Amino acid sequence: MRSAFALLSLAFAAVSFAAPATNTGSGTGALFQRCNRPGVFALTFDDGPNENSYGLAKYLHSENITATFFTNSRNFFSSPFDTTTTETEDGTKTYQEVLQYYDQLGHEVASHTFSHAVLTSLNADQVAEELNLQSDTIFRAIGKRPAFMRPPEGATNEAVNQVISSLGYSNINWDVDTKDYEHLGLATEEERVRAIVDLDVPGVTLGHIALQHDVHADSVNILTPWLVQYLRSKNYTFVTVSDCIGLPAYQ
Ligand SMILES: [Zn+2]
Repeated sequence: MRSAFALLSLAFAAVSFAAPATNTGSGTGALFQRCNRPGVFALTFDDGPNENSYGLAKYLHSENITATFFTNSRNFFSSPFDTTTTETEDGTKTYQEVLQYYDQLGHEVASHTFSHAVLTSLNADQVAEELNLQSDTIFRAIGKRPAFMRPPEGATNEAVNQVISSLGYSNINWDVDTKDYEHLGLATEEERVRAIVDLDVPGVTLGHIALQHDVHADSVNILTPWLVQYLRSKNYTFVTVSDCIGLPAYQ
């Protein structure tokens, strides 16, 4: 009886290890790194919009995929967000119109702060300003305020977390990092994805949140199409972050 119990405990431990519950809670202020169920995969893109972003949104839509964009207003350009334009295959668009396009296609618009500031270097008022200004940008574009944020470089501390929570955000991290910003090429990025995803136990391992950057052309043109075909070959369903964690994307 005792040995049977020990075996059962071991089996349970093995399953637990295969499906770590890395989320720290649910609801406002919580940190999320995984989806809340197996079989789903959330593609997320940081640091945009920039010149690659509209085409990426369109490509994902053509594949019947919705994704989540963690956006800045002043990151890769310093001119006013609402009037700065980008050329797309559907003509010249302002970045405000790019955010509207995300929303029209069912992609989610989340906050990556106004200026891509490292929040741990700021005081509480400055952290709040970074979040509120980006919320204003998103509200002007789509009439909704984001409930999801991702701190630049993933950098937070207790004081930052308090502001994130008090302003009604969930902190959306990731468990799959392609490190596409290192520009080491698809083979290396593939290895990083497969090192995690190939260990998944179907129906058991919780779904993933993967980090990419739409400001890098190779991420949009090479890495993302590979992710789409590879993860489909593993029978994943692509979801937005709100679907992944079961919370609304907007406040
Ligand atoms: Zn970033």
